[in-house]
Amino acid sequence: MPHLLDAIDAQLAPWFKARGQGAYRLGQVRRWLFGQRAGGFAEMTDLPQALREELAGAFALWSSEIARHTQAGDGTEKLLSTLADGGQIECVLLRDSEPSPGGRGRSGRRTICISTQVGCGMGCVFCASGLEGVTRNLTTGEIVEQMLRLQRLLSPEERLSHIVVMGMGEPLANLDALLPALAEASREDGLGISHRRITISTVGLPKAMRRLAEIDPRYRLAVSLHAPNDALRRQIVPVAEKISLAEILAEADHYFEHSGRQLTFEYVLLGGLNDSPANATELADRLAGRTAIVNVIPYNPVAGLPYRTPSLAAQRAFRQALEQRGVSVHFRHRKGDAIDAACGQLRRRSRVKSQESRVKS
Ligand code: SF4
Repeated sequence: MPHLLDAIDAQLAPWFKARGQGAYRLGQVRRWLFGQRAGGFAEMTDLPQALREELAGAFALWSSEIARHTQAGDGTEKLLSTLADGGQIECVLLRDSEPSPGGRGRSGRRTICISTQVGCGMGCVFCASGLEGVTRNLTTGEIVEQMLRLQRLLSPEERLSHIVVMGMGEPLANLDALLPALAEASREDGLGISHRRITISTVGLPKAMRRLAEIDPRYRLAVSLHAPNDALRRQIVPVAEKISLAEILAEADHYFEHSGRQLTFEYVLLGGLNDSPANATELADRLAGRTAIVNVIPYNPVAGLPYRTPSLAAQRAFRQALEQRGVSVHFRHRKGDAIDAACGQLRRRSRVKSQESRVKS
């Protein structure tokens, strides 16, 4: 059965037309999906029951099953989904809470972090997602499905406000499926999230960065550096073997010229590896003259990997060294530690558990 979320308009418009139904039917379905957060065709009560039943027989709304749903005390929620072919992916809802005036629900930023591939081929040494390489790209429908599943976790008073494409996988390696999915996110009759509130993260693939700049530079771009020089970067990001920081920064500058959107550079701070004040100074010199924010993310340890969270003193010294050189720094505080919210950790834990149970049985 075709997955409706793969191409909602292109599938539904001719389907309704062939049944003599007006074009407004498509709008009704879209309102139920994106606005009313419907979980199935049966809930779309302003469509005739016979039509709802026919829709349910013609299209699959969901293509995955939730294997695990975890919640942390800070409001973070994470879903581990099993896809139709058995692959597993993760997506996360992050809440920056402010009590709402009437005391009902919570207001503030509601960000979702979504995946674009099963696994990841970039192999960053500190990351759980890349440990077993990449299995395949996600389809557009599988990406939209993560957004809708996460939106359904919100209370009626809450609204999605931001999307970060920073989950499992390298987003720019799957642009053909990602861009139509993000179009659904930004459409007024989709999730209605403006382009400037959608951030695509990349490890820095120059050709794909150029392609994004040419196709649609309205999104914010976050480029993961993790090191201030090529020698150190090669140790942390294996794809860096073939791609220099100079190439990546040149493409980042090109994207900025096209989009006018402030660039973000991501830097995972690994204790004893890339967290010295000298590393910070070198990074600041590299980025001099750019309108950019550096997002520093103190490492979230992954079971079985030898990397550690830097000490608070090291984090402070790193920040100070950047700020002294005029760099805008944002330390991203870890959310959802208790539920393995960092990319790929829940999936890894689930796979390790199933391997252990296979060994035991
Ligand atoms: S950090 Fe991102 S790019 Fe690197 S392996 Fe993990 S998912 Fe892939």
